[in-house]
Order: sequence, then structure tokens, then C-alpha cells
Amino acid sequence: MASYKAPLREIQFVLHDVLDIEQLAALPDFADMVGRETVDGVVEEAAKLIEEKIAPLSARGDAQGCRWEQGEVRVPEGYADAYKLYWQGGWVGLSSSPEFGGQGLPYTLSKVVEEMLCSANVGFALYPGLTSSCFEAIEANGSEAIKRTYLPKLATGEWTGTMCMTEPQAGSDLAAVKTKAIPQGDGSFLIEGGKIFITSGEHRMADNIIHFVLARLPDSPPGIKGLSTFVVPKFFVKPDGTPGERNKVRCVSIEHKMGMHGSVTCTMAFEGARGWMVGQPNQGIQNMFVMMNLARIMVGFQGLGQCELATQNAIRYAQERRQGKAFNNGDAIIEHPDVRRMLLTMKALTEAGRVLAYETALNVDIAAHHTDAAAREAAQDWVELTTPLVKSFLTDAAFDLGSMAVQVYGGHGFIREHGVEQIVRDSKILALYEGTNGIQAMDLVRRKLMLHNGRLAQRFFERVRKDLALAGADGRDLAFLERPLSQALDAVETTTRWLQESFKTNPNDAGFGAVDFLKAFSLTALGYNWLRMVKAAAKQPDAGLRKAKRITAEFFAARLLTQVPTLCANVRQNADSLMQLEAEQF
Ligand SMILES: Cc1cc2nc3c(=O)[nH]c(=O)nc-3n(C[C@H](O)[C@H](O)[C@H](O)COP(=O)(O)OP(=O)(O)OC[C@H]3O[C@@H](n4cnc5c(N)ncnc54)[C@H](O)[C@@H]3O)c2cc1C
Repeated sequence: MASYKAPLREIQFVLHDVLDIEQLAALPDFADMVGRETVDGVVEEAAKLIEEKIAPLSARGDAQGCRWEQGEVRVPEGYADAYKLYWQGGWVGLSSSPEFGGQGLPYTLSKVVEEMLCSANVGFALYPGLTSSCFEAIEANGSEAIKRTYLPKLATGEWTGTMCMTEPQAGSDLAAVKTKAIPQGDGSFLIEGGKIFITSGEHRMADNIIHFVLARLPDSPPGIKGLSTFVVPKFFVKPDGTPGERNKVRCVSIEHKMGMHGSVTCTMAFEGARGWMVGQPNQGIQNMFVMMNLARIMVGFQGLGQCELATQNAIRYAQERRQGKAFNNGDAIIEHPDVRRMLLTMKALTEAGRVLAYETALNVDIAAHHTDAAAREAAQDWVELTTPLVKSFLTDAAFDLGSMAVQVYGGHGFIREHGVEQIVRDSKILALYEGTNGIQAMDLVRRKLMLHNGRLAQRFFERVRKDLALAGADGRDLAFLERPLSQALDAVETTTRWLQESFKTNPNDAGFGAVDFLKAFSLTALGYNWLRMVKAAAKQPDAGLRKAKRITAEFFAARLLTQVPTLCANVRQNADSLMQLEAEQF
């Protein structure tokens, strides 16, 4: 069984020494909440609950999975008790608005907890995760009455939420959604249709389930502009706020999946279920995107959690497993250079990936709470630009590092008992849902690079260049990192301009290069993170931390960051001939 120990020292190093989470104290909404003691106290308390009560359920959840019996879903043993402990401990609503019963702590802190939860048991994490997404969508666009009815119980996690978009013919292409919403003249709508792949669509861990549903009004225009969003409760809410009669929505079957067995994935039938519109008619996609942007960051944190799990288990195993004599005479497999190559790759991506994810979360807080409009705008630009990187890069890394962990374990990794093969199976879905990673790459290339005349990427380049100039000025020997980072930045900046231009004349070029470009951009961002981590570590009293950061940074700079110019050269290829092969000629 894979084991999990929350990397508290690493989390605290990133929060305090690299990103300075205490800067949030300058925002009136968080004035008393981000002192070092408070932050560390929250993280340590969450870590304890997660390590002791939730991590041990992961292997069991994987082995048992969920069961469907006559429309009812049974989650794995122990999940219901653990979920109760989790929501009653206040962890679901950690950063939700206090107006609706949340604790109002920074979003960044809730994401740190999310990382730990997703390392410990990513299948379990989806129950509170989708609940928060549903809360965010209703909070952003719901009427006062809808908010008062549903948000307090979603904020605490006493009720759970879903996100119902996908249909058999409508996956990435939501324009094809067919589910209908028929107005009843009393402010309510009857929802008719079928949704597939709905996470947490049915279970009995909560007294009510609130579905957030994408559907089409009878007189709506076709395509994406004709969709609206609705809130559809499993049980109607009585005037006293408690669940009443059952609504006409049911789970007709559940999926049998490659991984994520503890999370239930439902086929849902809406058979004249009564719902209420959230937001304006035909604005459904805009409403969904409020939730989806944060949901994409959430999935990136799922990826980060799985990267951490793979890395720490591989390191522990390699320290203990004795096999063969290495060149330097050690006999634990960690002494073999090839095993070190894998472990350093895992460490380098996970640790710098954590900075990428946390910094995006920090900017979500600044964008929402800063008192200065220019600071809010700059933070929002950062969030927009880095969201596809967090979602895609960290989830691809989770699968790759899961596979690398299996490699470190050798044949033992392929055996279920050790639990690292579960990481490979669990993490594949992260690259598929909330917009596949291919779609994320297109979002980066076609939308984010173009927004505000290229302002988002320009601000990123300027910031990294400024810090690079300072890094040289403060006299430390950082040339090993400055040089490849500077080269990577030049390559990404040149390629950004090329994409901005070529997109106007030949969008297929951008389509072909998008995934490589996202990887190049992400590695450059990670290079920037390593620069800041090495500088922050140099000020730490712990010699072991200083050495580990320095050597991991050297590995990243020499062996991973150097891939960027090649990836960028690939992106700048013309794709005309590749598009000429007819579909049947493949
Ligand atoms: C376990 C699980 C849980 C899920 N949970 C939910 C949930 O809670 N709610 C919900 O609504 N949905 C959920 N989904 C659905 C998920 O979001 C979709 O599977 C996903 O959006 C992809 O859609 P699809 O499977 O139809 O793939 P397709 O859209 O058919 O995509 C297939 C391939 O084509 C590529 N592709 C498609 N369109 C484009 C394009 N325009 N440009 C470039 N490439 C493209 C994709 O990148 C992919 O590689 C879940 C799915 C699973 C398996």
C-alpha cells in the first residue's frame, strides 16, 4: 500500500519563504488570518486528519469501488464516516464566504489542504471538490433566494454538489448539449435529458445532492449560445431548510473505470426534474466557466497531490531496497545513478510544480480581495495565463511520475500490494476531465496568448527577466540556472510572437504546436520557480535543505529546462503537410 506523510516542511517553505503568503495580511479581508502560526496551525491540523483518517481508506476504496443497487450507490467502506469527519471539521468550507457559513480563509490555504487530500486519497477528494465547485457556480450567478436555499449547506459540505455537463454526444463540444429545460410559468423549469460521467451524482453520504445542470431552453439559439444553467436538488428543500420530497432525477448506472474507484461516476436521468435557473437565459457557458476556471485549478492540485505521492513513495522505497552494488559501493537502489535520475526528475517537477500551483492560488486571492484595481488586474492576468499550465502540466506529470514510481519499484511496482500502480490508474483521468489537456493547450495558445493584445504573457516575461537580472546582481553563483532560464525565456517569447502571428494565417500550426508549447512554457515557469527556491533556501539555517534545493535545481537546469528550445523549435514548424493526410489514409 502506498503511504502518505504530508510534506509539511516543504509546504511551509513554499508558503512562507518562496511566496510570502503573509503578503495577504495587507488585504483587509485576510488581515488576521495569515500569520505564520495560523497558517501552519491550519495546515498541520488538516495534515493530521488526512494522514490518520483519509489516507488509510485509499487502497480499500480502490479495491472495493462503488456499487450501484437499484438506483442507490454504496461508496466504499469507511468513506461516509470519513466524509462526516471532514465536513464537520470545517474543511469543505475553509475558504467559502462567511456570509454563507464558510470560514473565509484564503483560497490558497484551501488548496494546500486540497493537495494533501489528493495525495492521501484522490478518489475521496472529489466529493468535497465538486461540492466547492457547485458552491462557486451558484455564488457567482444565483439569485438571492437560490443562494440562501443552497449555499449554507454546500459551504459546510453537509450537502454535496455536482457539475452536470457531459452527454454522450457532448464531451469537449458542449454546443451539442441536448438536455431540455421547459419553463413552468412559476419560475421553475422541468429538466428532461440524460447526463453521463457525473462525479458524485448519487450516494448517501450527504442528506441532499445539489446538481448544477447545463440545459437548453425551448426557444434558445442552437449551439453554445443557447445554453443555460439550472440548480436541481435531489430532494426539494422545505421552507425550514431541510430536505423534503424527492425530485425526479436518478442515477441509472455507474461506470467501471481504470482508476479513481472510490469516486462514483454516474449516468443521470433527469425525468421532468424540477430546477431553477441560475443566472440569465442563454448565459450558461459563461456561468459554467466561473466554476470551470477554479475547477481546472482544483484538478491541477489533484495532479500535484499525485506527483507528491509518487515521489515520496519512490524515494522511501529506493532508500530501503537493496539490490546490486552501485559504483560507489552502496547497495540501496538509491545509489544507482539511473534510479537517482528518476528520483531527481520526480523531485524537481513536484517541488517546482508546487510553487506553480500555490502561486496561481495566491493570485486568485489577490485578484478577488486586493483593494487596488491594478493589483487585481495583474493577479487576474497571472491566474488566466497559468491556469492551463497548472491543469495540464501537473496532471500529465502525475501520470508520468506515477509510471516512474512503478519503474523505481521494479516488478514490485506492477504488483497491487505496493500501491504505486494505483497512482498511474488514478491519475490518468486528471488529463481528461475539466477540459482535456489538449483543450487546455488550445486555451493557452488560442485564447490566453491573444487576450489584451498579448499582455498576459508579456507581463510574465517581464517579471521573470526582472528577477533574473536581480539574481545576477546579488552575487550568488546562480549562473548554472540563469543561463538556461534565459535561453528558455528567449525561446518561449519568440515562439509566443510566432504563434500570435501564425494563428491569424494558419491556425493549424498553432493546433499542432499547442501541447509542446504548453510544456515549454511550463518548464520555463518551473525554471523561474527553481531560481526563487534556490535563493530562498540559501537563507535557511538547514544545510540539508540548502544542499537538496541546490542539487535538484542543478539537475533541473541541466537536464529538463534545456528541453525548452527544442520544444519551441518543434512548435514553430509548418503543419500544412501533416493536415493533408486524409482521415482514411491513416
Ligand atoms: C471519471 C470521469 C469523471 C467525470 N466527471 C464529470 C463530471 O462530474 N461532470 C461532467 O459534466 N463531466 C464529467 N466527465 C466528463 C469529462 O469532462 C469528459 O470526458 C471530457 O470533457 C472529454 O469529453 P469526451 O470524453 O467526450 O472526449 P472527446 O470530447 O470526444 O475528446 C476525444 C479526444 O479529442 C480531442 N478533442 C476534442 N475536441 C477537440 C478540439 N476542439 N481541439 C483539439 N482536440 C479536441 C480531445 O482532447 C481528446 O483527446 C467525467 C469523465 C470521467 C471519465
